[in-house]
Amino acid sequence: MRYISTRGGMPPKSFSEILLSGLAPDGGLAIPEVYPKIGADELKAWRGMNYQSLAFEILSRFTDDIPAEDLRTIIARTYTREIFGSDEITPLKTLEPGFHILALSNGPTLAFKDIAMQLLGNLFEYTLGKTGAVLNILGATSGDTGSSAEYAMRGKKGIRVFMLSPYGKMSRFQTAQMFSLHEDNIFNIAIRGVFDDCQDIVKAVSNDHVFKQARRIGTVNSINWARVVAQIVYYFKGYFAATQSDDEEVSFAVPSGNFGNICAGHVVRMMGLPIRQLILATNENDVLDEFFKTGVYRPRTTSETRHTSSPSMDISKASNFERFVFDLTGRDADKVAELWSAVDKGLAFDLSKSSLFEKAGDLGFVSGNSNHAARIATIREIYDRYQVLVDTHTADGLKVGQALRDPDVPLICMETAQPAKFSESIQEAIGLEPPLPAGYEDLEDLPQRFVIKDVDVKAIKAYIAEHAGD
Ligand SMILES: *Cc1c(COP(=O)(O)O)cnc(C)c1O
Repeated sequence: MRYISTRGGMPPKSFSEILLSGLAPDGGLAIPEVYPKIGADELKAWRGMNYQSLAFEILSRFTDDIPAEDLRTIIARTYTREIFGSDEITPLKTLEPGFHILALSNGPTLAFKDIAMQLLGNLFEYTLGKTGAVLNILGATSGDTGSSAEYAMRGKKGIRVFMLSPYGKMSRFQTAQMFSLHEDNIFNIAIRGVFDDCQDIVKAVSNDHVFKQARRIGTVNSINWARVVAQIVYYFKGYFAATQSDDEEVSFAVPSGNFGNICAGHVVRMMGLPIRQLILATNENDVLDEFFKTGVYRPRTTSETRHTSSPSMDISKASNFERFVFDLTGRDADKVAELWSAVDKGLAFDLSKSSLFEKAGDLGFVSGNSNHAARIATIREIYDRYQVLVDTHTADGLKVGQALRDPDVPLICMETAQPAKFSESIQEAIGLEPPLPAGYEDLEDLPQRFVIKDVDVKAIKAYIAEHAGD
């Protein structure tokens, strides 16, 4: 398995070579030269497997330069009952026949990003350990990525984490989760701006190749291919749990922001799993919904990006979307480079008059958006009807999923966070505090450790230079 760039400017590389870098040298994203095809024999063999064995089968197809024994050890250390709360790792909850929730948020930070990030932490430590190299991880978060990355990397040898977050814009719980970490290798940087300012700083630093190389800067943002691969596993797991035989179709509803989670779903469909619909749900920040409805992809400005009650989906442009468009164009790297030369300047592109836009439907995609009133109503409705409490992001997925699903095909809605993280909205919906999982009761009272900085690339670089490992 070799990896190329969505913009065509990178010689093919191995998994280990792309693991530690962020953007490709040409500004594009790493993507497999070809997707592995999964046939009837594999599905049959995989159906009865536990999460760890399934993860090995899938990951080994994408990471073929890691020896099998080492990969098995890494997986066994990552996907444990201790870290994810059950042997199933991502249990399926059936609300009623043909209507399911795939629980992805039982990891340490109570959000689905732990599934990929815990693996990434162990992959990074393993790869760095082989050469004695160090890595300074620079990331931007609107909430869940940051704490998930920090919990995955805390105390890991050779790794430091510099995590930018929009100051005062995460939920109390999210803030407490991140800022209460006191490990020496964790640096919380609160930025006076919104998430996209943070993301732009990360991009600016990453585009300074001299600085990036000298300071050994890497990333854990959702553009990291290993994260997409880790997420592929639970689509298969959910499929097997919701079906009896390997010719049945399912649909997935995915609350989306940076297009990371549903990008994995897209790859899974390309690999051959019988997925009817990939239902993409946005919140009020509907840049992706707009694309799938109109063919126009118009990144929003910072001032157009709204702060919502499903904050982990508050994005103005979706960094992983480029991978999907690469496939949509029939893997035309020149076309992608041309489209993203506009996007990188904050401009829109319009595929509405191109036959490419119709192809998005052929690839299973439909989309819808949600808003605060709809998600509150959905939380209440799901609670009343099934006595199941969901968080605000999952509610967006459920709302759009129920509206757009093909009624003849089982629907699996991705649960991306625990309700305890968003207690204000849960209160509003059902008039009760969501129960705090054991061990999280005192989180918001713990002392917090962070610095506050302006939107100033130079100042951030100076801070990193001062604190980076080398
Ligand atoms: C990150 C996140 C999302 C969005 O996932 P993407 O991969 O960015 O599309 C949805 N819900 C929650 C709770 C998240 O943390």
